[in-house]
Amino acid sequence: MILVLVEHDAGSIDELSLQALALARALGEPVEAMLVGSAEAAGALGAHGVGTVHVAEDERLAAYAPAAWARCVTDLLERLEPSAVVAAGTNRGNEVLAHVAARLDLPFAANCTQVVAGSPMRLTRVRWGGSLLEEAALHGSPALLSVAPHTVAAATVDGADAPAIESFAPALDDADLLVQVAEHAETVTSGISLAEAKVIVSGGRGVGSAEGFGILEELAELLDAAVGCSRVVTSAGWRPHTDQVGQTGTKVSPDLYIACGISGATQHIAGCKGAKKILAINSDAEAPILASADYAVIGDLTEIVPAITAELRKARES
Ligand SMILES: Cc1cc2nc3c(=O)[nH]c(=O)nc-3n(C[C@H](O)[C@H](O)[C@H](O)COP(=O)(O)OP(=O)(O)OC[C@H]3O[C@@H](n4cnc5c(N)ncnc54)[C@H](O)[C@@H]3O)c2cc1C
Repeated sequence: MILVLVEHDAGSIDELSLQALALARALGEPVEAMLVGSAEAAGALGAHGVGTVHVAEDERLAAYAPAAWARCVTDLLERLEPSAVVAAGTNRGNEVLAHVAARLDLPFAANCTQVVAGSPMRLTRVRWGGSLLEEAALHGSPALLSVAPHTVAAATVDGADAPAIESFAPALDDADLLVQVAEHAETVTSGISLAEAKVIVSGGRGVGSAEGFGILEELAELLDAAVGCSRVVTSAGWRPHTDQVGQTGTKVSPDLYIACGISGATQHIAGCKGAKKILAINSDAEAPILASADYAVIGDLTEIVPAITAELRKARES
């Protein structure tokens, strides 16, 4: 049996967990799921091939606490003895399985794209912000692995029965709750989220200042686009971290990604290589971003971006 750690947001199952379930099913064993605190969410998992959903219930689990979630998993492992535990390669999925691995002194393979059952399990996983695919053998029982986001398609199973739902009370102790989410801060956004935007106008160090983003915002507004940025920009405090694209920011997949004054470091490309087309605006004809770009304009962005905006306005007015 394979046990999958499923995440949900107020009862709505996370898409990346559905992708993890699809990879788990491909291992050819019955699939059971564990989720924390929402029996309503559990019912939807039958359609994704889950036979039994184990719902961890304890009021102390109301706020996310990584060690407490890991305790829920290890409690189940003792009882159910699955051959593998699979999670989505999200911040939480990777963090919880890292705790589980440390407690059980087992190896953990994060961000897998393909897995072949066996002993050891053979797998391919994403390393170095997406610039390397590693072939590896995963020893240890149970096998602990997470699934790289958007590398496996979620899929439903025809004629699946509703899953059995079994609640359990994990044996939490105070140490499991030392680290937990204390507060959710609302972020102010322009209304279009980076993750969902069809067009993104993104700026790097070449934009020069927080005020310099004004011309990018103007263009973004015309294109119904979101504004993104590089890490240099967030480190300088010109834009919030929520706008950062890259390995340690958001991974985006718009139809068009307009990179203004961004050099194209691998850690940035890791976040925008899912774009269908990349337009680079850069004063340096040798900038590395040109290797990833479909189109490029070589020149000063403070002239080029307003010129594009003006042309778009003209075209719309005529
Ligand atoms: C572990 C780790 C994780 C990281 N994660 C991320 C991440 O998630 N996202 C990220 O972006 N980076 C990340 N980085 C940082 C990354 O390595 C680069 O330092 C960063 O992406 C560079 O940002 P930039 O392109 O804005 O700046 P620079 O590399 O300084 O490039 C500025 C570009 O602007 C151009 N330019 C300058 N003036 C103009 C002008 N007037 N008009 C047009 N072009 C102009 C220059 O030619 C240059 O190409 C990470 C680094 C590490 C080590």
